[in-house]
Amino acid sequence: MPDEEWDSEEALPDVSGLTPVRSLDELRRGTTERERLTPAAALRRYFGYEVFRPLQGDAVNSALNKRDCLVVLPTGGGKSLCYQIPAACGAGMVLVVSPLIALMDDQVAAAREAGLNAVALHSNLDEENRRAASQAMMLGEVDLVYASPERVMASDWVTRLPNLALVAVDEAHCVSHWGHDFRPEYRQLRQIFDRIPNVPRMALTATATPQVQDDICNQLGLRSVDRFIGHVDRANLVYRAIPRHQGAKQALAVIQRHMGEGGIVYAQTRREVEQLTATLKKAGVQAAAYHAGLPAETRAKVQSDFVNERLDVVVATIAFGMGIDRSNVRYVVHANTPKSIEHYQQEAGRAGRDGLPADCVLLFSAGDLVTHRSLAMRDGPLSPDRERVLERQLREIGRYVVAPICRHRLLTEHFGQPYPAPAQGDAIVNSSSVEDNCGACDICLGETKELAADLALLTAQKIISAAWRLEGRFGPGQCVDVLLGRRTDKSERAGHDRLKVFGMLQDVSEATVRAWLDQLIVQGFLALREDGVYSFLLHTEAGKALCRGEGSVRLGQIADRPTPARAERKPKSSSSSKSSVTTDDAPLSSQDQALFERLRTMRKQVASAAGVPPYVVFHDSTLQAIASARPKTIAAMTAIKGIGERKAARYGAAVLAVVQNES
Ligand code: ADP
Ligand code: MG
Repeated sequence: MPDEEWDSEEALPDVSGLTPVRSLDELRRGTTERERLTPAAALRRYFGYEVFRPLQGDAVNSALNKRDCLVVLPTGGGKSLCYQIPAACGAGMVLVVSPLIALMDDQVAAAREAGLNAVALHSNLDEENRRAASQAMMLGEVDLVYASPERVMASDWVTRLPNLALVAVDEAHCVSHWGHDFRPEYRQLRQIFDRIPNVPRMALTATATPQVQDDICNQLGLRSVDRFIGHVDRANLVYRAIPRHQGAKQALAVIQRHMGEGGIVYAQTRREVEQLTATLKKAGVQAAAYHAGLPAETRAKVQSDFVNERLDVVVATIAFGMGIDRSNVRYVVHANTPKSIEHYQQEAGRAGRDGLPADCVLLFSAGDLVTHRSLAMRDGPLSPDRERVLERQLREIGRYVVAPICRHRLLTEHFGQPYPAPAQGDAIVNSSSVEDNCGACDICLGETKELAADLALLTAQKIISAAWRLEGRFGPGQCVDVLLGRRTDKSERAGHDRLKVFGMLQDVSEATVRAWLDQLIVQGFLALREDGVYSFLLHTEAGKALCRGEGSVRLGQIADRPTPARAERKPKSSSSSKSSVTTDDAPLSSQDQALFERLRTMRKQVASAAGVPPYVVFHDSTLQAIASARPKTIAAMTAIKGIGERKAARYGAAVLAVVQNES
């Protein structure tokens, strides 16, 4: 076990280097009361979208009818619109409680780009801007106010807001002990909310366990709550869990498939982050390291470079992520197994928020789980409760990585939902149209194959017998050598070359034997014991039983064919992502792709001039739609998804110039 420090998620990353909240000129100019619009009209005018995503319209109506609601939608599901639309409809001001400055600034920038008056109240705001914001708020001239829970609790300004139509609590799982980012201040919010009983409340989160949902409703004092629980599956993500044999090389392969696109590589320790960054740089990848051991300025710069698309690849510990809303992250690689499925869902979920296909690759080794266990216990033994939770989490993530079962199904079922998602609405469910093949994970893509049951049993018995013969005195590497029949000094000295199991799997590749060993460890037929320096391989009671033919085992193996090229992969669009994939998943032609790249360059320039991240100006999906539709007029542009009136007016000319230049 390395003795270096380990990173945990940071509740509040330092974001002082990030783009500041933009000027309040527009606010000072004063506004007239916002025109009353229907939700659909507001969606079109301000956001340029024709249809609501599932549950968005319900949440908006709930707020407009002055009811409390809980909204659970996956990352990228479109939670922001649920509370932005009531403001855009002219219903009044919406107060949004948000845990992170970076998140607030991003949202404020995006809302302003859409043509709404938004302000964020936080400690990074200078005195002048704060005063201007307060004044505008008290005059009822603001549509959206973003504030941290601390700010909401400071004095009673919230109770004095003149035209408050809704309070929305974003990342509401922070209120729950059971959630993964508990923030005690969230618990106090109710005190203020109870002083404005006529204002409806909306709580939003991507974390779906029923326990956390109940906790949120109780802690925030939601009254006869409307619950809008979406399906957790992220259909646009392609999941792969692959045995790690040469981690850096495997990560590099993913990065090279995505040259010029944004991606995150998670590693477990700070040292691993540094090493991997160096290796990638040597291979010509422009990558930066991020972990809690780096100076605050360095971290802020990496974060800001990544968000503003000046940097493509960040290699990081899990300290990096919360508050990174870059929507066009095209891949997330885990160089090690994460701590739990919840963590994985959260970290991998940073890919593809724009609804376009994105890759999530997890490189695993059974040793990772052992490391997590000893890490959790480094400060002494755990309470029995904590230990039970830890073991359960490791079992679950272990099963996820080795079970040769559709990854989308495993993740969805983990959160207590059926997979595939049941059909929406009252249409008759045509079960024959519900395929079992997600087309978006290594299993369903045929990259990882399951061994036939009898072959799996026989193979497992061979491996367990080998471990049995080594009597728990050797590591997994020696067991692999024995099975492969490698004559090493060690084998000969120990007489392993005379064992019956020697060379029993000599026709199989080393990577495959290692992967099977891992799979047997995770399934409990073998075990690893660490003594702090070395790890030793043991067989378990379940393993002995399996050798007697009792019980069953599943083994997967990487199929003998290359990873399909990106164009061949077609992740199924779920009902929730379909609406955002404007290009119907069809890859762009090479001509359109060239135009798309030029549009990206233009976007970067205007974003930098406006002081906002590029994805706030247009999403990749919008640029792709422009590249294939090639609009000739500004009016034609507003027909494209993601271009509202304001964006058309503001950027239309720049877009047309690029498009015309091309044709
Ligand atoms: P969440 O907070 O749930 O992770 P966001 O609110 O950030 O998700 O939205 C994710 C993306 O989906 C945003 O880029 C947003 O513009 C887009 N989006 C939201 N609603 C719609 C819609 N009805 N149609 C198309 N795109 C949408
Ligand atoms: Mg959000």
